[in-house]
Amino acid sequence: MSTAEVIVIGGGITGCATAYELSRRGAKVTVIEREAVHAMGSGWTLAGVRQSGRAAAELPIAREAVKRWATLADELRAELDYLRDGNLRLALMPEHEATIRKVVDDGNAAGVAMEYISDVQAVREIAPEVTDTIVGACFCPTDGHADNLKTVSAYAAAAQRLGTTFLTGVEVLNLITDDDRVTGVATSNGVYNADTVVVAAGIYSPRLLEPLGLKLPLTVVHCPVAQTIPTTDFRLAPVLGVATGAFAARQTAGGGIRFIGASIPWTLGQHSSANVGMTVQQMDNMTRNAIAVLPRLAELRIERVWGGLIDDTPDNIPVLDAVASHPGLVVGAGFSGHGFGIGPMSGEILANLVLDGRDDRFDLEPFRIQRFIDGVEESSLEMLG
Ligand SMILES: Cc1cc2nc3c(=O)[nH]c(=O)nc-3n(C[C@H](O)[C@H](O)[C@H](O)COP(=O)(O)OP(=O)(O)OC[C@H]3O[C@@H](n4cnc5c(N)ncnc54)[C@H](O)[C@@H]3O)c2cc1C
Repeated sequence: MSTAEVIVIGGGITGCATAYELSRRGAKVTVIEREAVHAMGSGWTLAGVRQSGRAAAELPIAREAVKRWATLADELRAELDYLRDGNLRLALMPEHEATIRKVVDDGNAAGVAMEYISDVQAVREIAPEVTDTIVGACFCPTDGHADNLKTVSAYAAAAQRLGTTFLTGVEVLNLITDDDRVTGVATSNGVYNADTVVVAAGIYSPRLLEPLGLKLPLTVVHCPVAQTIPTTDFRLAPVLGVATGAFAARQTAGGGIRFIGASIPWTLGQHSSANVGMTVQQMDNMTRNAIAVLPRLAELRIERVWGGLIDDTPDNIPVLDAVASHPGLVVGAGFSGHGFGIGPMSGEILANLVLDGRDDRFDLEPFRIQRFIDGVEESSLEMLG
């Protein structure tokens, strides 16, 4: 058992899953969260759990995450509303077909079974509410979704049962270093020392890393989300997505349809409850796109709308790294719109990086922060849902 003292910055799924995994291995963990658990990305998310449409480097992690989700509720002793009813990604126009077929080919090549369905009626047997004007779809039956608030709360509760301390309403102002070694954090509540600090602060991670000369170039985008009141008259079993990322939807275990629209650049810097909502134009685009795919959605009543910020890296995969230049620093950030589904594995990987300095199950080379100095190939792969 480890006796390491670890500070985790951020109470989203990444931070809470990491704290849980570290506590299981005996580490003394303190999570420092500026607001409350699931206050940001992990609270705003669509909460799809998928392997389809992942970058090749991330697919092995996503595949292991799906295995882990199968038993996660029992392990965390909580209902997570995890449903494995597949992911259906639609080609809405002929020019989308090649993109969707590539998702199928890449998935199958990596050992994840998916199929391209060109028979529109066969697609509508999987999701009867989908418009009959589509061209075809990728179906990955082992994808699914879960309740994000229940999942993050369950991780936090399980971590607490194992001894993790949560300091909420406390902001980390900066990392403290001794030469290049990270030795703790300065917060709005004083200084805390640790053997290792894990930065899992979502879109705000670069602010903590920049003073150390570490480059984490994030493009932050704003994505609109809506959820209808629960309905039994409208059944959507799989998570729906499209080739462009301009629409995705799922039906929660409670029956509400949660759907998202196209993201726009975020230019406001610091978010607040007053500026993170969607614009009227985003709402208009989102509902038009959604109704075009699910015509009967137009009849349902909206329960809630909100907006979410997404931390996109240039290559659309996160940083999962024990930073070589700064002993005592581990980074888990830049999840590029897909950190929820892989959250259980991110937690495992980051805990292993803290306690062992490595995780031999995966090739983590593509996830190193150093790549932003060495140069990365940009990717336009952003497929939510
Ligand atoms: C609209 C939308 C749809 C999405 N859809 C999907 C999907 O279908 N599937 C999927 O897998 N992913 C999806 N994602 C992405 C996924 O939700 C995120 O990648 C994931 O939740 C990120 O978790 P995190 O813990 O890394 O970051 P966050 O949940 O953002 O947590 C970071 C935490 O750090 C805290 N913090 C920040 N700075 C400080 C500081 N200085 N001091 C203390 N605390 C600090 C914040 O308050 C926050 O709580 C979606 C995201 C959005 C917004």
